[in-house]
Amino acid sequence: MKETYLYKKLSDKKVQCQNCAHYCVIESEKRGICQIRENKNGKLYALNYGRACSVHIDPIEKKPFYHFLPGTYSLSVAAVGCNFTCHNCQNWQISQAKEISGEEISPKEIVNLALKNNLPSISYTYTEPAIFSEYALDTMKLAKKKGLKNLWISNGFWSKELFDLISPYLDAANIDLKSFDNKFYIKYCGAKLQPVLDSLKRLHQNKIWIEITTLVIPGLNDSEENLEKIAQFIFRELNPDTPWHISRFFGYISWKLQHVPDTPIETLKKAEKIAKKVGLKNIHLGNI
Ligand code: SF4
Repeated sequence: MKETYLYKKLSDKKVQCQNCAHYCVIESEKRGICQIRENKNGKLYALNYGRACSVHIDPIEKKPFYHFLPGTYSLSVAAVGCNFTCHNCQNWQISQAKEISGEEISPKEIVNLALKNNLPSISYTYTEPAIFSEYALDTMKLAKKKGLKNLWISNGFWSKELFDLISPYLDAANIDLKSFDNKFYIKYCGAKLQPVLDSLKRLHQNKIWIEITTLVIPGLNDSEENLEKIAQFIFRELNPDTPWHISRFFGYISWKLQHVPDTPIETLKKAEKIAKKVGLKNIHLGNI
């Protein structure tokens, strides 16, 4: 547990968390939407600090990053929690956990683990790194000093304050752009689209390497119109070279969409065709 880095004290021992774009106002002895930040007598604490629920060595392509340190492995770490409630989540046991679980591993120990295994990067992944931003940031600072790269695999629903805090230490981000329809974000993720677009633009302006992932879910976000809007955004607001990973959905491993069929390969090919027509250069079909 650690006092959080981004919050404002309000009257009556209330606080406003400024860590993500929900900007929760939290009364004393209550938690924010993520259930991970708790107001204790007028001070806000991250309950998951220093508690790693997953530590693993993955090929960087699994994150996925196809154009950043290709062919290398990355030390992947997570702490419990998320600011989204995606019905399609595949890691919901740790992302939606209400209990704080995980092994106590310090930022220094994480960095030493990467160095001991000759890994060139650390990935903050599996759950939402914004929800363990203090733990991630302390690790990122030490990692940078040792010449390691820091990668976030994230939903991008960050506050501007969080971006300013982490961006000096962030080398690359794979951001889920789940849909271009705000109603999808509200209904299936419990969030909104615009902050995600804002984070992507900030990453681009700050020359931080971006790859984008869209999990295509039958009947939910697979319309030609939606896919074309995503491709257009990448082309116009980011870069035609920005990689777009178009991923296949499997219902049986999802949190709440087990009744939805797997994405047909033809749908992914349709998305690829649209992306090519728009002018994107690096299109990757995933989970096939
Ligand atoms: S991190 Fe986001 S969801 Fe969690 S308390 Fe802060 S503003 Fe709310």
